[in-house]
Amino acid sequence: MLKINGINKGIVIDHITAGLGHKIFKELNLDKAEYTTALIKNVPSNKLGKKDLIKIDNVVDLNLDVLGLIDPNLTITIIEDEQIVDKIKLSLPKKVTGILKCKNPRCISSIEEIDDITFTLVDEKKKEYKCEYCDTRNSL
Ligand SMILES: [Zn+2]
Repeated sequence: MLKINGINKGIVIDHITAGLGHKIFKELNLDKAEYTTALIKNVPSNKLGKKDLIKIDNVVDLNLDVLGLIDPNLTITIIEDEQIVDKIKLSLPKKVTGILKCKNPRCISSIEEIDDITFTLVDEKKKEYKCEYCDTRNSL
């Protein structure tokens, strides 16, 4: 088993596209967390050239849909007793509810201020999601 320096129990979010670490850090409210967290930017990486990395000294619930939308290429490692107990690879979620807003100003969801809209992935390459109300394609 691989040992992770300095983390007894926690989460490492790795292979974050350089520059997106801060956004993910804020999205997870880690800037307000009371446990130890670290955002490490521009780590040299063989695969990506440069990457960002986040260490969280606690096991917290992560919204994988939100993370997948921001950066589908990142990996999540869960650590307990200084050992890796789980490794999660992300991808673009097929469906998301309550995260995205429709960009069509005439969409009923904008007019009636509906928040829990379901969007379905229609084009993975272009990162396009279709609104359930008006079928408009929204790209991320
Ligand atoms: Zn819509």
